[in-house]
Amino acid sequence: MAMIPFSPPRIDDRTIKAVEEALRSGWITTGPRTKEFERRLAAYCGVQRVIALNSWTNACELVLRWYGVGPGDEVIVPAYTYCATANIVMHVGAKPVMVDVMDDFTMDPDLVKRALTNRTKAIIPVDIGGLPADLTAIMRVAEEGCSLFTPKVNLRVAGSNPQMRLGRALVISDAAHSFGATVGGKRTGSQADITGFSFHAVKNLTTAEGGALAFNLPEPFDPEELYRYFNTMSLHGQSKDALAKTQPGAWRYDVAFPGWKCNMTDVQAAIGLVELERFDGETTPRRKAICERYSATFRDDDRLLTPLFKDADRESCYHLYMLRIAGATEEQRDAIITAIAQRDVSVNVHFIPLPMLSFYEGQGYRMADYPNTYRLFSNEISLPVYFDLTDGQVDQVIAAVKAALKEVMG
Ligand SMILES: *Cc1c(COP(=O)(O)O)cnc(C)c1O
Repeated sequence: MAMIPFSPPRIDDRTIKAVEEALRSGWITTGPRTKEFERRLAAYCGVQRVIALNSWTNACELVLRWYGVGPGDEVIVPAYTYCATANIVMHVGAKPVMVDVMDDFTMDPDLVKRALTNRTKAIIPVDIGGLPADLTAIMRVAEEGCSLFTPKVNLRVAGSNPQMRLGRALVISDAAHSFGATVGGKRTGSQADITGFSFHAVKNLTTAEGGALAFNLPEPFDPEELYRYFNTMSLHGQSKDALAKTQPGAWRYDVAFPGWKCNMTDVQAAIGLVELERFDGETTPRRKAICERYSATFRDDDRLLTPLFKDADRESCYHLYMLRIAGATEEQRDAIITAIAQRDVSVNVHFIPLPMLSFYEGQGYRMADYPNTYRLFSNEISLPVYFDLTDGQVDQVIAAVKAALKEVMG
């Protein structure tokens, strides 16, 4: 039997044709397809403006730089996330302050409240697996903590000082997993101040590599102005992008500050436009059906803890199936993964908590300080979920999990 992969992208004739058209159009970098992708993303998420960039990581790092986060500042992140969430904080010279998560894998708002100090400049909740964090509570914590907030006054940000204007910690949602998920019936992107999406190859909407920011800041922030500023930031601080320079005689430009380089290309946007068009009609329903097929079987076994996809307020976009094995130690979980792999099924673990990574351990973070994170991680196994996974393959995964469980746990 062929190995069942964990999360291959859906690449078919339609995707290939769209990429071919982009390549043949003569415009392969940021251009009309990227702008169209941004408009459609904004309409989909129900926000005024979205900018498409080359990754979640670079997009959200720009947000920290725009907000003037740097040395001496703190950014609150969950201990349970992918390294990117904290790495961007390191990149700008600030300190990640880690907090523990709740049983649904998302950051605990009460612990965020306790972690707030007069150095806190941003909070980055993570919608792990596709289930939105409690963004309503976290926004409230940020707003109620405004008396602690100490804005930097000499920020050199064109036209405005965002810290003075907002007057509280910025809430940046790490929605790398949760494009299309909902909170109170509204799509992710419209809850936090700024939401970062990832379109990396393994995510539930892909452009090979890519990311986007949805702007949802309160007044007097202007989404158009934010869009223009981030566009400039993503292109070396250059006053005109390649598209604007195609206007007759419009060759002259200025560089007002040394910006970064993280724009999306039209080749990537071509993939994204196809993905977005079939996202609600095909991608998410198939993912949901796969997750439901797993849960329908696993629910009957007390040793298998099925993931939460929906409650009164939230619905996941069914990005990951994060199964947990009740009572399994980390060693037993690892043995179960080996036994599953021997049955030709690829699985994964989301994620190795930040304090267990040698870099962050070396920075003084200790796993013992985040007991719930460790408890969830130690017996977690993510199962394959992707559009092309057939019901027969889902059943093969289920059989492999059950057999591996019996082999290791008895
Ligand atoms: C994938 C991922 C990222 C990083 O996304 P890139 O687009 O690869 O930079 C950030 N956070 C989480 C939780 C992720 O899973």
